[in-house]
Amino acid sequence: MEKRKQVYEGKAKKVYKTDDQDLFIQEFKDDATAFDATKRGTIVNKGVVNNRISEILFELLESKGIETHFVKKLDERQMLIKRVEIIPLEVTIRNIVAGGMAKLLAMPEGIVLEEPVLEYHYKKDELHDPLINEYHAKAMKIVTDEELDFIAKRSFEINNILKAFFDHKNLDLVDFKLEFGRHKGKVLLADEISPDTCRFWDKKTKKKLDKDRFRRDLGGVEDAYQEVLKRITG
Ligand code: UDP
Repeated sequence: MEKRKQVYEGKAKKVYKTDDQDLFIQEFKDDATAFDATKRGTIVNKGVVNNRISEILFELLESKGIETHFVKKLDERQMLIKRVEIIPLEVTIRNIVAGGMAKLLAMPEGIVLEEPVLEYHYKKDELHDPLINEYHAKAMKIVTDEELDFIAKRSFEINNILKAFFDHKNLDLVDFKLEFGRHKGKVLLADEISPDTCRFWDKKTKKKLDKDRFRRDLGGVEDAYQEVLKRITG
């Protein structure tokens, strides 16, 4: 697959065209940002780890019938993906209170939710990705009714699959963020699934093994990412 012009550069990834107009290449960087990109840094080998973790999780989901943009891993930092039109919606699923929800509702982190909580954020840097509800999403015409129903249903299915998977790896899947995109009339799971986009706590010690170590200057950031990969593959 011939790598062509770069079409996009985000905070953690670059996307390139290929000689097939339906396929793109997604490259994972070591750059890390937090708090609206006011905090910036590098997490050594994060790109390599996140590419591998995303590969494993996309393959897991595909094996359970969840369609994703993932085609195949190309090398350490790159994967071949289906070209999608990203729906500008960040879908968050929460199993345990942490981060934004703890802050928004003044709830202590660590409360186990009886039912998962689904949240939408409008993906718009200038507006700082505001929390919105499904009526806002439909009013802005960024998704149709049918697409939104599908996305919500899919997100809960993905949560069930991932929660069970990580439970076997002795990790609590605290929360995570998903993005979806349109490809040939279908809505596919897109973007990445990694310690950048999920919160993982060790089931026993509750040690944080995700990007919160970077956000909160907890140290051991690289080791935490490696540990998640080790648990997944172990
Ligand atoms: N998240 C993400 N990208 C974002 C915001 C959040 O991947 O732009 C992930 C984050 O890593 C966590 C989940 O979504 O696993 C919920 O994040 P939250 O809303 O608590 O926001 P945060 O505390 O990260 O600001």
